[in-house]
Amino acid sequence: MVSNILHTVLLAASLLPLAHAAPADTCKYKGALVNWQLFKTCNHVCNLYTPTTVAEAQAIVRNSLALGRGVKAVGARHSYTDNLCKENADFIDMTKLHNIISINKDEGWAYFEAGTTFGALEIALKKEGMTYGFAAPAWPLITVGGALANSAHGSGWTTGGPITVPAATLAVDIINPQGELETITDGDKLAAIKTNLGLLGVVVRIKYAVHPSRKMRYSLEVVSDKDAIADGLLSIVEKQAGTIGWYIPSFQTIALAKMSHADDYSGPLASGSAITNTMQTFRRNVLSKAIACKLALCPSPISNSSVVPVVGLEEDVIGGVSAVYGDILSVMGKFGIVLPIGVGDDEYALPISRHQEAIAAVKATFKEYHDIDISIKGVSAALPFVEIRFAPAEDTAYLALNTDSDPAVWGQGTVWIEVWFLTSEANENQIGKFRNALQARLLALGARPHWGKTREVTFQGGVRDRYNGNFAKFEAVRHAMDSKNTFMNEFATRAGIQ
Ligand SMILES: Cc1cc2nc3c(=O)[nH]c(=O)nc-3n(C[C@H](O)[C@H](O)[C@H](O)COP(=O)(O)OP(=O)(O)OC[C@H]3O[C@@H](n4cnc5c(N)ncnc54)[C@H](O)[C@@H]3O)c2cc1C
Repeated sequence: MVSNILHTVLLAASLLPLAHAAPADTCKYKGALVNWQLFKTCNHVCNLYTPTTVAEAQAIVRNSLALGRGVKAVGARHSYTDNLCKENADFIDMTKLHNIISINKDEGWAYFEAGTTFGALEIALKKEGMTYGFAAPAWPLITVGGALANSAHGSGWTTGGPITVPAATLAVDIINPQGELETITDGDKLAAIKTNLGLLGVVVRIKYAVHPSRKMRYSLEVVSDKDAIADGLLSIVEKQAGTIGWYIPSFQTIALAKMSHADDYSGPLASGSAITNTMQTFRRNVLSKAIACKLALCPSPISNSSVVPVVGLEEDVIGGVSAVYGDILSVMGKFGIVLPIGVGDDEYALPISRHQEAIAAVKATFKEYHDIDISIKGVSAALPFVEIRFAPAEDTAYLALNTDSDPAVWGQGTVWIEVWFLTSEANENQIGKFRNALQARLLALGARPHWGKTREVTFQGGVRDRYNGNFAKFEAVRHAMDSKNTFMNEFATRAGIQ
């Protein structure tokens, strides 16, 4: 604590003279930013700061403002699009701002610093018999602040309780583009901040909905894509607290991992990261079999025996993995070492009533582009594959994918089709054609593309028109908060944000 205060005072003192000096090139880092998947994300990072207190973060923002320089906050760098970037800006790594400030069991919320990872949050909640449950994105090592910016989500449809990070976010403290600390609890600012993509300031603290842990039963159901298209998936996902599906077209099957509340179950208590880990285990099972199959070692298709209930990550694992990644990323960024292959995805939301047509569209596109796999040193990877998630419609976040802009169409819930693929320079062209073709089919069904995930191919599809006026509402808040574009970036401009 004392060292934190000392650190803040020293940093503030070292920055103060700069705040009064004429703008000068104080860029020291001048490297690239490497993301979590170990491929380079951003060029021309000016400075890379890692504050440990809110006051320190504020001093950094104020200094950048005085120099007329842009600012970009980053979390665990799990993003794979260049929404993580801003040219020649000062970057603020949020991962050391991770104190849990308070947990209120009676009122069902936790208040913590925005660099807290979901895994660390869970560990703190577990001691109180609480969890963040289904609003769990797919990886416990990402920060809640980063997940909020990207409008990340878990998967669950019929039960109550937030499924998305924006829906679970009750209030935030943000260092705004004027360098002031502002608390936002409601209104249009909160609706915009719930999918801010880092464009509205640095979110430093979050008040987040949590609830008591419950017993959870896990199971896996496998259906053929033919049956899914003919009969739909509603009878499978119905009444389940959470269901997530993986569709591997080369198997012609969809594996649906289901989690249901079961207070009589003898297994472990379900927690947010147990849900996350279970989903990851299913995903690994499905993927490894698909890849093995592609290599002509086709094992038996996915079956119900793949079900392995998983418990949440423990503190040392979370701390250890985060630290190792942090070190690797810094060294790679500084020396420009990057992997040649990355992972990308496109995501679309559709009204639940159209899920059969959406699966049929995916199937038809894969059939057309059956030779899409990429080869790495002679080994062919069975990608892309498709994740199918479910979420209730909601209207608390302007740019959430499941924003309930038209209750008659979206009110029954949404299905999210997420297409994953490996990217390299060699396959860019081929993947691009595949993505265009799939996009054309899904847009014809009324799909809404994810505004922050997608790249050029989707931007050409007119992302903003699909959000029924919500882009304009977001932009009104952005202009009011950041008229000098301190936090605006090139990616957002390409996505059509004005
Ligand atoms: C658009 C998009 C949507 C995604 N949706 C999902 C999903 O639904 N489910 C899932 O499991 N995974 C999702 N992912 C993958 C990953 O889980 C998310 O990217 C997650 O947000 C990464 O968190 P992070 O801490 O690594 O943030 P980073 O990748 O470091 O940053 C993500 C964005 O948040 C901004 N940001 C980070 N911290 C702050 C802060 N404190 N204040 C202001 N801005 C900040 C950054 O500038 C950047 O724009 C998504 C990825 C993208 C690109």
